[in-house]
Amino acid sequence: MKFVSGLKAGATLSEALRVSAQEFKAAGIEAPDADARALLGHALRLSRAQLMSQSERMFDERELHAVSALVARRLKREPVARILGVKEFWSLPLAVTADVLVPRPDTETVVEAALDAVTRDGSHAEKLGVLDIGTGSGALLLALLSELPNAVGVGTDISAAALVVARGNAERNGLAGRCTFVACHIAAGIDGPFDLVVANPPYVTSGEIATLEPDVRDYDPAVALDGGTDGLDFYRAIAGEASRLLTPGGRLVVELGIAQDAPVGALFTKAGLSVGAVRSDLAGIPRALSASIAP
Ligand code: GLN
Repeated sequence: MKFVSGLKAGATLSEALRVSAQEFKAAGIEAPDADARALLGHALRLSRAQLMSQSERMFDERELHAVSALVARRLKREPVARILGVKEFWSLPLAVTADVLVPRPDTETVVEAALDAVTRDGSHAEKLGVLDIGTGSGALLLALLSELPNAVGVGTDISAAALVVARGNAERNGLAGRCTFVACHIAAGIDGPFDLVVANPPYVTSGEIATLEPDVRDYDPAVALDGGTDGLDFYRAIAGEASRLLTPGGRLVVELGIAQDAPVGALFTKAGLSVGAVRSDLAGIPRALSASIAP
């Protein structure tokens, strides 16, 4: 096995962290220090606090193998969440496999917008029905159920393998009793209506897939990214189903790609929906659009 250069037996933990972070930085990886800490901690089964308190301890040969293997994977741009097999979303630990998109912090904006929609009209205490279209790891549905103790939900996905992950995540987070998962395209065969319909659909244009960061392009499932020629295929499909799926006062909240607020708003309006607020993510990008059935 090829060791990552600079990682040698006899190195201390702090040296190993520094060398790994340097390698990550040189490879153009976005968060080199955080990634090095996460991977060393995982390889050595040490918490962040233990990594710090043991920073002058030396590695043995076996530990060096374990660390080198993970650092080498990251240098091939495998995302940390995939190496660890888990990603935290809305404070819930979610298992991540090759079959699901890694949950992104941006997507928490959709959770905020959805909670805002149901809290504002006071319905959060009621027995709400939630539908998550293209649930993947279950991130959106499980985050919402964790906040809405009286809600029940359905998650759909075209990928049966993704639904295995979502079901496991529901169990892991004690939410399995309040949700079911159905393999289908969009919401085919799903009877509504729901008080809340959410989706983080594939929205990258087919032509842009090749230009994405390798962490995304080479590891996230293409089926979770590719939104067709103009990136809007799934918004069109969702718009066509919305009035069937929503209760009269129900809300639809979808995640948006960059600069998709206007085109998605326009096609929702054309489909007869009433378009409400757009919520921006932490970077100021319009990220979550909410809509309802026009009165
Ligand atoms: N946000 C993803 C990205 O990093 C895209 C996910 C999606 O298409 N819904 O490009």
